Amino acid sequence: MISIKHLSKTFKNPDGQSLTVLKDVNCEIQKGEVISIIGPSGTGKSTLLRAINMLEPPTSGEIWVDGENITAKGYPLHKMRRKMGMVFQSFNLFDHMTVLQNIIYAPMELLKLPEEQAKQEAMELLRKVGLAQKADVYPSSMSGGQKQRVAIARSLAMYPEVVLFDEPTSALDPTMVGEVLSVIRSLAKEGLTMLIVTHEMRFARDVSTRIFFMNEGVIYEDGSPEQIFEHPKRSATKEFVNRIQRIVYEIDGSGTFDYYQMETEIKRFWIKYNLPDKWDLADEIAVEMLRQYLKDIRPLTFRLSYTELTGETALDFMIEGISASPLRDDSVLDGIRSRVKEVIEEPTSRGFRFKIIL
Ligand code: ADP
Ligand code: MG
Repeated sequence: MISIKHLSKTFKNPDGQSLTVLKDVNCEIQKGEVISIIGPSGTGKSTLLRAINMLEPPTSGEIWVDGENITAKGYPLHKMRRKMGMVFQSFNLFDHMTVLQNIIYAPMELLKLPEEQAKQEAMELLRKVGLAQKADVYPSSMSGGQKQRVAIARSLAMYPEVVLFDEPTSALDPTMVGEVLSVIRSLAKEGLTMLIVTHEMRFARDVSTRIFFMNEGVIYEDGSPEQIFEHPKRSATKEFVNRIQRIVYEIDGSGTFDYYQMETEIKRFWIKYNLPDKWDLADEIAVEMLRQYLKDIRPLTFRLSYTELTGETALDFMIEGISASPLRDDSVLDGIRSRVKEVIEEPTSRGFRFKIIL
């Protein structure tokens, strides 16, 4: 359906410097594929999406859509744009129009759909994204998650053959990420062809038929979710997909450590990674360890970590310069052990640590 051949894009900046952002990108996209594009920021993911629908015409190379070269001089771009929906990070809704007006605008203007039919179809789409009751409100009164669902409905109203999503959840409050991802997930189930730039690794693994790992302006590795996430071939891919998110606290003996601040940050951390159910337990155990079992042991390093891909969440308490457990009675941890997956007590190269896997 889409074929990209030797695509490159160089930006000429006002200061005369030029920056090559895409270097020889090649790929074939079949109808019905759901492709997640992942990779570090600044590697050209957005530029690739914008090149595919010619918002950012490529410097060289060709893009073929349904057997037509859309990069050919004089190709009627409006024809191609109808086939491609685009959903941006920042929603881009018309604020002076109601939700319904936002959705019917393009079908009436461009597809010349009669108003009644456009409205009927818009209502159907709003039901699909769970917002039928919001048809007559203005976007300004909605949450980010709701706006993004409207933006998705609006792009679907043009009957696109493919929808391009550029980080659809990264401008959202963490509590709203889930509702947008589940709409996209249901579109995937219906067989809509989609290209999704995303940082949500678990979502990408679950929903995609194929993953593009972009790095330094090329599709650095391309494969099934299993291939890319479980058996990446190249080291940069491996490093990227196995990223661990963490917060680290160095707690000295001065008594000035702000536990309340820490609790707030732990909460924010869990919400950010969409694990609100783990917050209570993580918080409880951190406080119990730091204020009860390890209260006389300072300095101490406390680390909260989350491996996105496996979903493993752990609390580490690390004490330098000792080689055996500082707890006199080993059974004091039993209360914690019964509530978590695993408690590991072990000497490390620099000291001793308690690792608690939730
Ligand atoms: P990603 O989406 O992977 O984070 P982008 O495609 O947004 O990366 O950007 C890749 C690089 O191209 C960045 O260094 C960015 O600053 C640069 N860039 C993007 N758009 C433009 C532009 N219109 N003019 C100049 N440089 C740009
Ligand atoms: Mg981007």
